[in-house]
Amino acid sequence: MDFKQYITVVEDFPKEGVRFKDITTLMENGEAYKQAIDEMVKYAQNRNIDVVVGPEARGFVVGCPIAYSLEIGFVPVRKAGKLPREVLEVDYGLEYGKDSLNIHKSSIKPGQRVLITDDLLATGGTIEATIKMVEKLGGIVAGIAFMIELSYLDGRDKLDDYDVFSLMEY
Ligand code: AMP
Repeated sequence: MDFKQYITVVEDFPKEGVRFKDITTLMENGEAYKQAIDEMVKYAQNRNIDVVVGPEARGFVVGCPIAYSLEIGFVPVRKAGKLPREVLEVDYGLEYGKDSLNIHKSSIKPGQRVLITDDLLATGGTIEATIKMVEKLGGIVAGIAFMIELSYLDGRDKLDDYDVFSLMEY
């Protein structure tokens, strides 16, 4: 299936110069959404994954159906102040300033094999912070899967030590 036909590219959103890749038009199409998830599940299937981790919010849209299909758990990574129990916090750089991401400390057991998922790889900052959290908790990053990779931003350079899969490339 040509998945790109279901992605809407929106010019100058959320600010001038950005070509926003809108996955909601793919999600609106049941067959395209299912096939996209199935492809990502296929990637994960032979990697012995114990748990899926994804950052809010679009990392949930991708990660939850993958976890459901693999019949394993899903662990959310969220912005500061959203998770109710004891968290591990990691700062990550944004274009202007920084932000932090949280994960429940008890969510990953040492030695667990983790699949990290998100909708899109841009600069790689979000995934880098997510990797740091998983590894601090003793998890092994056994794979990283994106729907979309913006290869012109070289986010993959930050992920040299990991196995990375993407369904579509721009
Ligand atoms: P980054 O940390 O730079 O890899 O970007 C991470 C997040 O920002 C991704 O998970 C996307 O949800 C969002 N994002 C960044 N650039 C774009 C883009 N051009 N179109 C859609 N989403 C984007």
